[in-house]
Amino acid sequence: MSANEKFTNDVLRQIQDFKIDKKLEEIGTVSYVGDGIAFSEGLDNAMYGEMVEFNDGTIGMVQNLETDQVGVIIFGSYHQIHEGDIIRRMNHTMEVPVGKALLGRVVDALGRPIDDKGPILTNKTRPVEAEAPGIMERQSVKKPLETGIKAIDSLVPIGRGQRELIIGDRKTGKTSLAIDTVLNQKGKDVICIYVAIGQKESTVKNIVHTLTNRGAMDYTIVMTASASKPAPLLYIAPYAATAMAEEFMYDGKHVLIIYDDLSKQAAAYREMSLLLKRPPGREAYPGDIFYLHSRLLERSAKLSDKLGGGSITSLPIVETQAGDISAYIPTNVISITDGQIFLQSDLFFSGVRPAINAGLSVSRVGGSAQLKAMKQVSGTLRLDLASYRELEAFTSFGSDIDEMTARQLRRGERIVEVLKQALHRPMRSGVQIVVFYALGNGFFDKVPVNMIHTLEQIISDELSTYHSGLLQKLEDNQPLPTEIELNAILDKIVDNFILVHVEGNKPGSDQ
Ligand code: ATP
Ligand code: MG
Repeated sequence: MSANEKFTNDVLRQIQDFKIDKKLEEIGTVSYVGDGIAFSEGLDNAMYGEMVEFNDGTIGMVQNLETDQVGVIIFGSYHQIHEGDIIRRMNHTMEVPVGKALLGRVVDALGRPIDDKGPILTNKTRPVEAEAPGIMERQSVKKPLETGIKAIDSLVPIGRGQRELIIGDRKTGKTSLAIDTVLNQKGKDVICIYVAIGQKESTVKNIVHTLTNRGAMDYTIVMTASASKPAPLLYIAPYAATAMAEEFMYDGKHVLIIYDDLSKQAAAYREMSLLLKRPPGREAYPGDIFYLHSRLLERSAKLSDKLGGGSITSLPIVETQAGDISAYIPTNVISITDGQIFLQSDLFFSGVRPAINAGLSVSRVGGSAQLKAMKQVSGTLRLDLASYRELEAFTSFGSDIDEMTARQLRRGERIVEVLKQALHRPMRSGVQIVVFYALGNGFFDKVPVNMIHTLEQIISDELSTYHSGLLQKLEDNQPLPTEIELNAILDKIVDNFILVHVEGNKPGSDQ
């Protein structure tokens, strides 16, 4: 073989052996990086939502698909990424770890542990973005999600699978309502996921502390993308947490998920979108801001029995400015959810806590899931409260009032008082029902307003000690027992209370 032939053969063989390394086409180079986003050239086949990896292992997600480049959001620090760096497609959409191993853990927006309990042992993952269950895969809510908060369970009841917005100004007790609801799920077979979006790390730490101290972490996952994190993490956290919730729901379980809060997610999305040079719209939010929240909240559902009957109940939180619920983001989320709980600053500061404005709060579907007996006792509560507020405004002018009005005022004051509830003190539904029965049937009218909570506590203790069968029946969705039975129980407790606490306290009554 001549040297020439040998050379030709060598070249031919090399050409035959040359395989296109598939991965080669999947590599691009960073053409711009900054503020949590990057643009990359060369990722021609990238899909929307696909995961990509930078040189140093930092993860990103493809967002903008343009003719000659793609826009990528970076989940983590971007300072070590430089122009010209290599960026690699991972050939799958964004996923997070899911499963039971996450219970009791505190994780970041990508499901990585940030507590000191070691790695999370699960090999299951789910896509962060998933399609919501369709109409045929759902059924309407039929079981209550008991919050343990009297004002909610009676006036704006929530059903498992419902989406109920908690909305209000800064520091009006939004987070507290949600956390107390988590505390109340103890022993109720509901898995809870609390997603902190753009919160201070110290706030989240306190929440984890409360949950741990009260034994609620056993059934809870806390996810946090704190205020100091880049916008992409705040944007993705609610979807990632929902993927974790879906794993349980499709396994026939019930999940409660709290998004605290979506205004901060919207702001993060706006920041990200502007950096990605998407056109700004109203209030500089991009045009698809509605879709940001609708596609998230649509994933909350009560599944059909065929699919196991699991559910995701969501409590999105939205912050308002000066009580303006008609602003852009609030109206969007109000229209997506099945009702809202509106918390008001002036109520909060006047001592009405939780500061729920009963007139502006509604639950559009929860009524059908409310316990029978609860429905019976809370039927006229909303109206009574509304007429009290009206009367209160009217009589504040100091005009003479007749006996009938005086009685209505007396009742109204007591309704307001009973609906107040201390922090972290959820009340079981059975007790709530008896308390509302007592309220509606005048048992509290005989007691001074400032003693109502003491009486309520005594009723609660007596019921738990001597009438646990009754409480259980009420919670098992039985209707109210006869008036004779309930009145007999309450007469005894209230008469005794008046004797000991009310008359016993009157001056000169100690001889
Ligand atoms: P932010 O706007 O900071 O998120 P927020 O609306 O979530 O505030 P919280 O943090 O829940 O409000 O509550 C604000 C303060 O009010 C907290 O110090 C909390 O302890 C107190 N608080 C909330 N609910 C009650 C209540 N029912 N009784 C007494 N204090 C309460
Ligand atoms: Mg809060």
